[in-house]
Amino acid sequence: MSEARFLKNAFASYYARGFDLAREPKHIDRREFGFTTFGEKLVIRHRRFSKWSELRDFVNSLAPADIMCSTAIYERPDEPMERKGWLGAELVFDIDADHVGTDCLSQHTSWFCPSCGESGWGLGIAKCPACGGKVEEIKWFCENCLEAAKQETIKLLDFLENDFGFSESEILLCFSGHRGFHVHVLSDEVMSLDQQSRKEIVDYLLGVGLDFKALGFAPRGKPPMLTSGGWRGRVARRIYDLLFEKAREDERISPILEKWSDEMPVSAVLEVLGREYWKLLERAKEEVATHVDSVVTTDLHRIMRLPGTLHGKTGLLAKVISPSEIDSFDPFVEAVVLPKSVVSVSVKAPIPEIRLWNEAYGPFERGQRVDAPKALGVLLIAKGAAKLVE
Ligand SMILES: [Zn+2]
Ligand SMILES: [Zn+2]
Repeated sequence: MSEARFLKNAFASYYARGFDLAREPKHIDRREFGFTTFGEKLVIRHRRFSKWSELRDFVNSLAPADIMCSTAIYERPDEPMERKGWLGAELVFDIDADHVGTDCLSQHTSWFCPSCGESGWGLGIAKCPACGGKVEEIKWFCENCLEAAKQETIKLLDFLENDFGFSESEILLCFSGHRGFHVHVLSDEVMSLDQQSRKEIVDYLLGVGLDFKALGFAPRGKPPMLTSGGWRGRVARRIYDLLFEKAREDERISPILEKWSDEMPVSAVLEVLGREYWKLLERAKEEVATHVDSVVTTDLHRIMRLPGTLHGKTGLLAKVISPSEIDSFDPFVEAVVLPKSVVSVSVKAPIPEIRLWNEAYGPFERGQRVDAPKALGVLLIAKGAAKLVE
């Protein structure tokens, strides 16, 4: 059996019983759907379904690698882009470990050369060192990457709920199925926002153009409180925590913290820290900002993975999570929905240790034969790091 056939069968048998976990979008008949397939790697765009059961039947017959749905609604979703008639779009955010910038990525990226079969570890390898051919980069994820993306998502949810006033019921949160999370704000109020308004929201989340003086972080202003809303409170609380850590090695800090009830003693902090104070503010800002992908949020015609469907490169479920449960969400357990039955694969490119459920698998080297649970076999094959052993 070919690798593509194997992946397609695994996805087909999952969708035959697991399509219920997919989340039906509002106004399904006004959405553009897109798909990619295994094997020929077709990209199918501009599909319209008048009802959920029609989509389900289509998925069951095609067993696609990826099921994507427009964040926008259109008058004519099945027409080419310029004739679709845009009616509005959800406000969406993509948080990916790539954007958060974890430094472990270079340690767990491998590559494979389809021309000569050479492989190795390394990020940004342009040419195969053995034959000069073009290599395929294989980015893996790890606990650290996903934890960083999770913390970033928690910050985003805090902004959305406390600064923008969206309720939990207006927010659809899901695991991306790979290296991050997707957040959709479904409220009617956001649907008509234009690109510029969405850009301003991104800038707010990133703290672009934040004016510390105007926010009261300079002497003679109205000082921020720990309990202040928005950026004032966020930065004040982070400064407090950073000073608390610093107090262990700098005895001048404790008296400031003792003086600090709710209102920040700005002048006292400035007096003790001097010029370092402004650097500390910058650091606090950087740490409380939320690093979303601005291209995704400002794109009014985006198609994104349909929440609750499988990721074609991992076989993991883009699981819908309640925002209040993200803290305890474990993607290596809860997003693993393919079976445990064993499949034999042969490793083509180096694979780091991967945890599925509570088992650790690997690391694996090129040439190794692995009897893997199907969920792992699909992941390794879909990523192009292993092939099926007949
Ligand atoms: Zn090569
Ligand atoms: Zn990592």
